[in-house]
Formats: sequence, C-alpha cells, structure tokens
Amino acid sequence: MQEFDVLIVGSGHGGAQAAIMLRQLGFAGSVAIVGEEPELPYERPPLSKEYLAGDKPFERLMIRPKKFWNERAVTLLQDRRVTRVDAEEHRVRTEDGEQIGYGTMIWAAGGHARALPCPGADCADVHAVRTRADVDRIMAKLERVERVAVVGGGYIGLEAAAVLTKLGKQVTLFEALPQVLARVAGEQLSRFYEAEHRAHGVDLRLNAQVQAFELNSEGTGLAGVRLTDAEMVAADLAIVGIGIIPAVEPLLAAGATASNGVDVDAQCRTSLPDIFAIGDCAAHRNRFAGGARVRLESVQNANDQATVAAKTIMREDVAYEAVPWFWSNQYDLRLQTVGLSIGHDDMVVRGKTEDRSFSVVYLKDGRVIALDCVNATKDYVQGRKLVEAGAQLAPADLADTSRPLKELV
Ligand code: FAD
Repeated sequence: MQEFDVLIVGSGHGGAQAAIMLRQLGFAGSVAIVGEEPELPYERPPLSKEYLAGDKPFERLMIRPKKFWNERAVTLLQDRRVTRVDAEEHRVRTEDGEQIGYGTMIWAAGGHARALPCPGADCADVHAVRTRADVDRIMAKLERVERVAVVGGGYIGLEAAAVLTKLGKQVTLFEALPQVLARVAGEQLSRFYEAEHRAHGVDLRLNAQVQAFELNSEGTGLAGVRLTDAEMVAADLAIVGIGIIPAVEPLLAAGATASNGVDVDAQCRTSLPDIFAIGDCAAHRNRFAGGARVRLESVQNANDQATVAAKTIMREDVAYEAVPWFWSNQYDLRLQTVGLSIGHDDMVVRGKTEDRSFSVVYLKDGRVIALDCVNATKDYVQGRKLVEAGAQLAPADLADTSRPLKELV
C-alpha cells in the first residue's frame, strides 16, 4: 500500500494550490494528489469561455507544467476515484480497490454537474460543462450542430450561450426562474445580461421549465426540448448548467458532519480526524455572508482555503477570512464581483447600464457588502476596500461617478 504524509483528493484548483503551498511553505514530507480526471491539474474557468470558443488550446490551461510537479516531488495519481474513506485507519480506497494511506488528508473534490431529473436527460446529445472531457465531447459535435438548447441561466449557461452564439449557433436558453443569475446577482444586473444576450441573438426564455429532452424518431439523438407548457423547441444539442452536487459522499459515509457539502471550521478542518476539506465542497462560516455557513464555487475560495489548510498543517495560526471575488466573461463584457450580495437590502447603480460600463453596489443595513462591476475594473479594485471595511456610505455618494470609490473610503 502506498502511503503519503499528505494525501490530497481532487486535482482541481484547490488540490493543486494545496500542494503548491505546502512545498512553498517548506513542507518536506511526501505529498500526493489523487484525482479522477486523467489530466494534470488544469484551470476550469476557461472551459465555458476561451476553450469552448477554440481560442485557447488545452496545454494553456495547465495550472503548472508536468516538470513542476516532478521537481516539487508531488506524486500525481490520475484517473483514480476515491470511493471510500477509512478515517480511523487513515486510509482511502479507490474504485479499483487500491488502498492509499495518509497522515493528513485534504479533500478537494469539488462537485459533479447536477443532471436535470427528467426523461431524455441521459441522451448522448445532452451535455454538462464541468470537465475538459465534457467540453471536448461538445466541441467534437459542434460542426454538425445548428441549434443549441442551454438549460440554466447561471454563469456557466450564460457563458456557454455567449460563446456558441459567437460561433454562429442558434441558441435558446431556458431559465426556470423569472431572472437569470437569480442566485448570485441583483435584478439590475440580471436584466442587463438578459438584454445583452437577446441583443446578440439568444432566444432567452424566463420562467421556462424543461419537462423532457425528446429524441428524434430513430431514437439516435436529440430532437428538442419539451417545456412544461407543452411547447417543443427544436435543438440538436443541449447543455445543462444547473449547478453542482458537492462530491463528498465518501466523507459523509465516514461520518463527517455535513449540511450543504461537508462542514469545515475556520482552518478548513472537517469533523473527521486529520481531514481538511476545501473549495467547492466545503461549507464554511464566511464573515462576508454575515457569518452564515456557505459553500462558494470560485477559484478564489478554492485557492485561499487551500492556503489556509496548508498553513494549518505547517502549524501556522491562520483563519479563513478572504474577501470573495469572482469573474465572468460574456461577449465583450467582463464582470468582476467582490463580496457577497446575498441578503442585500439596497443597491445603487454607479454609471449607466447603456454605456456597458457600470457597477452595482449592494448594501445591507447601510454598509457596502458587494459590488458587481461590468467593464469597470477601477470600481472593482477600489470597491474591494469598501467591502473589506463594511463601509457605511450614502447611496448618492456611491452613485456619483465623478468621485472615485477610493476617495470615499
Ligand atoms: P475542482 O476544480 O472542481 O476540482 C475537483 C477535482 O476533484 C475534479 O478534478 C474532480 O473530478 C475530482 N474528484 C471529484 N470527486 C473525486 C473523487 N471521489 N476521487 C478523486 N477525485 C475526485 N470560478 C471563478 O472564480 N471564475 C470563473 O470564471 C469560473 N468559471 C467556471 C467555468 C466553468 C465551466 C466551471 C465548471 C467552473 C467555473 N468556476 C469559475 C468555478 C471554479 O472552477 C471552481 O470553483 C473551482 O474549480 C473549485 O475548485 P475545487 O478544487 O474545489 O474543485
């Protein structure tokens, strides 16, 4: 049985960063990353952006080249899915029955794309956008595809819709709720993105519930999407972007405390001995969410939690307190967000949405809690300080574009 001082499960952003940090901090023990994907650790955000568009080859998505992992003596165990954790024995088991021992484990397994629970969802023309393999399958078909149905108006669905429209496909996007980005943004931003997508030719349907994916008469491929109001919208390919299910089953089976994902403390420790959890699967108390337990799906969160776990292993006294940030690219629009807008009770638009360069500032109890900045990098950079400080500012001052945000701090 192989044994490592630190075993990292998951070779995504969090897993890679944890190994990088451990070595950077001088950790001299053995480190391995075990991951179910066959690739070396790679960046996920370009999958729905430059990679799908064909603008960036896969080699440029690598978080580090192979040489880096060799030089740092980080063992990469690819193509292996961990199916069982024996927390007492400090051992995991993979799908193939291989056992791997560890001193400390960092669980960084992210999540798996949520499937739409409806008839036809297992059709080969219905795709997720979570892994390189998912996107390669889509790209291999694109030449023969004219009409694409995108289910879900979150960031991934919207980004995919933007890319596919640019590639000349006829895109219909179905969002079950009355607005896109409903989970993460205020109404102003949602309406802006809805208008942009429509202006670029996307047939965007709100309050649209998919009932089934219908197959062609030969049963060999997708014919279209049937909505709950009985309308049938023709499509050759469908993309489902309706969120993830945190990949934590083996931890739950081992008895870890869990709510939405696996619960971790401020040092990213789970309730199991010597097991940390980080990234998309880790439910943590976040001061930018008013101390509520949340799971954040962002590169920032995965990287910063990886750093906290690595420092804790190195016996540094740290706690996870990083300011949340995120970005999304759609058409020529670069959205940058800082803070968490959940629970806001007021919002101020800074600039004009017609100019396609503006920011939405979110407030709670008179304090700035988040900003969504569209083609407004200055506001994003300067607004971070307002979020960090929980600045109490008059809405009129925030709306005044003649005054840079840094002057208001
Ligand atoms: P992941 O990066 O998902 O890595 C987890 C890894 O663990 C995966 O390789 C998975 O296959 C593996 N795994 C799962 N279960 C097991 C198991 N049992 N055994 C072994 N391995 C396992 N974030 C942003 O901040 N900005 C963006 O613009 C952005 N765009 C995105 C676009 C797309 C298409 C997607 C999918 C995500 C995007 N994100 C973006 C989110 C961001 O990529 C994630 O938040 C980040 O990757 C989380 O890192 P992680 O390490 O927690 O999980």
